[in-house]
Formats: sequence, structure tokens, C-alpha cells
Amino acid sequence: MRGRDSLVRCDNCGRNVPRTKAVQDEKIIRYGTDPNEKDIKFMTRRKVYYCISCAKHRGIFEKKKERAIRLANRPQL
Ligand SMILES: [Zn+2]
Repeated sequence: MRGRDSLVRCDNCGRNVPRTKAVQDEKIIRYGTDPNEKDIKFMTRRKVYYCISCAKHRGIFEKKKERAIRLANRPQL
């Protein structure tokens, strides 16, 4: 329903964006003291939202576009 969208907060800049307009992405968070440590103690996935400008800046759209091109150019077996 337009006009009654719940707002989500952009994870990068903190701007409020409607849920329909926000770009969803997944972030993997690793808990540990040393980032080079091989045994990760705890790992979790968090759903994050970005506003359109931040998503564009981070290349989320570009990735999707590249993937679409790759799938389109895939040789037919
Ligand atoms: Zn943003």
C-alpha cells in the first residue's frame, strides 16, 4: 500500500527509506579478536537495507547487472 510503507533505515548513511524502495543485502558478521584468525568463533548473517544512492555507490546494482549478463551469455548446452 502506497503511503503507508514502513520505513527502514539505511545501514550506510542512516537515511529513512520506504521498504519497497530500499535495497536489501546480506551482511556476514564475524565475531573474533583477530580478523586473520582461522577459527571463527561465531558467525552470523544480518539483513541490511541500503538507500538507492548507497546501493549504487556500493555496486549492488552493478553486481546484479553483471550476473544477468553472465547468465544471458551462458552457452546453451
Ligand atoms: Zn544510504
